[in-house]
Amino acid sequence: MAHVIAIDGPAASGKSSTARAVAEALGFAHLDSGALYRGVTLVALEHGATPGAPLDANAILLEAERRGLSLLYDGTGFSVYLGGEPADEAIRSAPVTGMVSAVSAVPEIREWVNERLRALPGAGQPVVVDGRDIGTVVFPDATLKVFLTASPRTRAARRLTQRGQAVGDAELAQETSLLAARDAADSGRPVAPLRMAEDAVPLDGTALTFAEQVAEIVDLARARMTRPG
Ligand code: C5P
Repeated sequence: MAHVIAIDGPAASGKSSTARAVAEALGFAHLDSGALYRGVTLVALEHGATPGAPLDANAILLEAERRGLSLLYDGTGFSVYLGGEPADEAIRSAPVTGMVSAVSAVPEIREWVNERLRALPGAGQPVVVDGRDIGTVVFPDATLKVFLTASPRTRAARRLTQRGQAVGDAELAQETSLLAARDAADSGRPVAPLRMAEDAVPLDGTALTFAEQVAEIVDLARARMTRPG
């Protein structure tokens, strides 16, 4: 199995952008596991799933396969494709974000996603993977596990800025509560909840610049990879 750098943490802690930059620095590929859960959620919504109603995991996964939901390499990382087209914008819509925690709490859906994530380092491709259960469940033997956090206000402000929205008090309060609801759902589910692996390195990015955060993880990864044994 090729090297795996696992980056877990709550919503909007900067995992994906950090993971992508770490992957670029190390010459690894970036794998955003949340994007695949979002892809399955998009398929579920387009297949008629409604928030709050029971989900038919088998029907959703069959539809995902029929429509070719997959991760394709784009030069730096793997992006989600649906029906042969990149789905990056569609998987970040508000309806997908609102329903993704419910979809990703279904064990069969988690197994389907995990199988696809494990195939890449299994085939010799070193990866930086970000998500919620990467260090605890998907890659328990990862070369390095990082648990990335930031204060709720920082995370909400970053998410609003990313979307080009105003960062006023009202917007911050609303975004903070949406993130908190998603974190509560992700931490409270019985299967593969969001939590820090015992052997993960905790990293609070609240007071760090993006470059500092990336450099810290790259240094940790290099140190692990040169460690004998
Ligand atoms: O990382 P992102 O916020 O895009 O993830 C979207 C959702 O996918 C999370 O809120 C969580 O419900 C789910 N997810 C998960 N396990 C992962 C990655 C994401 O359950 N490894």
